Amino acid sequence: MADTAAPITTDLDFEREGKQVGALKVPHAREDSALGALLMPVTTIRNGEGPTVLLIAGAHGDEYEGPVALMKLARDLKPEAIRGRVIIVPALNLPALLAGRRHSPIDGKAISSCFPGDRQGTITQAIAAFTRDELVNRADLVLDLQSGGRSMIFLPHVAIQRQDDPAAMATALAAAPPSARRSDWCVTISTAPDRSPASSEPVPSST
Ligand SMILES: [Zn+2]
Repeated sequence: MADTAAPITTDLDFEREGKQVGALKVPHAREDSALGALLMPVTTIRNGEGPTVLLIAGAHGDEYEGPVALMKLARDLKPEAIRGRVIIVPALNLPALLAGRRHSPIDGKAISSCFPGDRQGTITQAIAAFTRDELVNRADLVLDLQSGGRSMIFLPHVAIQRQDDPAAMATALAAAPPSARRSDWCVTISTAPDRSPASSEPVPSST
């Protein structure tokens, strides 16, 4: 179902200094608009040289906490408060979020199952491909805010994909709140196929 043959575009310039509030234009032809598009809100804030942090929420459309938090942050964060770049995507699976559903009502997909994505695929697969190629690839650190939606209750925790590079692992740990690093609620997750099934191991407390 190639319903997004046209590419996703944006008028945001991710290299520009300062704060830009814009959108990804996701082509979506539909009954009432042959050239229709979804506008996925994105904010990019840059203040000089430094690392890039990508903040994502709304991977599942029934999880409202992350989108609310990132929309507030996108409104309030000023360039002078950072060094480097922050890219904020509060509604990654926008159709699902607008519908209040875990999966997109357009193609029935959860975006977390769509990576690495397919630019010629369904709308959720195309968003996943753009996210990986244009956003994740720009980032030194990616924070994906998730919660339990309507079917689960999540205890607060930080899950970190285990990194082979010690510097990368240290960066990931540094991004976790100190309260999480001192507890069992900071876990590392291995997703590499040559490793044992996804494990959940407490990370040694950081000093
Ligand atoms: Zn989720």
